[in-house]
Amino acid sequence: MTKDLEFYRNLPKKMCCECGEHFEEQAESYLHECERCFGHNHE
Ligand SMILES: [Zn+2]
Repeated sequence: MTKDLEFYRNLPKKMCCECGEHFEEQAESYLHECERCFGHNHE
């Protein structure tokens, strides 16, 4: 599965698992959701 690892490593942005939008990865974040979806899920 090294191809998958290389694929993600080359991506400059992460993809939200909720809406599929690409978003900037926060330095101290392990989120798999963009800020918008994260807010919806935790309000
Ligand atoms: Zn999202």
